[in-house]
Amino acid sequence: MTLLQAQNLTAHYGASQALFDVNLTLAPGEVLALMGRNGMGKTTTVKSICRMVAAQGTLRLDGHDLTRLPSHKVAKLGVGLVPEGRRCFADLTVSENLIAAARPGAWDETRVGALFPRLAERRGQIARSLSGGEQQMLAIGRALMTNPRLLILDEATEGLAPLVRQEIWDAIARLKRETGMAILIVDKSLAELRGVCDRAVILDRGRDVWTGVMDALDGEAAQRLLGV
Ligand code: ATP
Repeated sequence: MTLLQAQNLTAHYGASQALFDVNLTLAPGEVLALMGRNGMGKTTTVKSICRMVAAQGTLRLDGHDLTRLPSHKVAKLGVGLVPEGRRCFADLTVSENLIAAARPGAWDETRVGALFPRLAERRGQIARSLSGGEQQMLAIGRALMTNPRLLILDEATEGLAPLVRQEIWDAIARLKRETGMAILIVDKSLAELRGVCDRAVILDRGRDVWTGVMDALDGEAAQRLLGV
């Protein structure tokens, strides 16, 4: 069964084309890595799925055509985005940030707190006073509060210290084990992605140049397409 089907996605910024026929699919419970060097179109692909960028092509979530929907309707259908740059309400507390995102369903503040104990400990703290890693956890918590069927993480571990990165990878692994959520991860750390992702799509200058199971991504392809 396919949850997300993105086919022949094409996107432009003014006259410049950012995506050329990008294809990706995600099944429930599957974790997909979306990789590529800087500026290759990862964020544009994510924004296209969330309808924050107007892309052409086929875009379906569980059979629903997303291509004519505004982004808040896509969110309502079950796409939870953790955007690049971890946007939280800086002047609200952890708890208020979570409640502001809440929609009826399986996720509540207690469950987010069980996934990220640091957030539970800091529930009364103003978001702007959290560390970068804690703000990232809060951004993930906010997305979970919407009860997504598809969770999208755009550079969720960027700039974070190794220990806190590991906490985030552990939480993703736990979501994979314990929920049927599909997860799309944009990240640059191939070693860490290998630990949690089932499949990968690599973009190069706006095209999906490599798609396959994670284990099939060998050193030669990684070097050529990712420079690692
Ligand atoms: P990074 O790893 O640096 O975040 P990325 O793979 O996510 O990169 P995108 O942000 O999707 O890449 O950018 C793809 C291309 O589109 C780049 O050439 C970029 O310069 C261009 N681009 C992105 N956003 C805009 C914008 N708002 N206006 C014009 N061009 C843009």
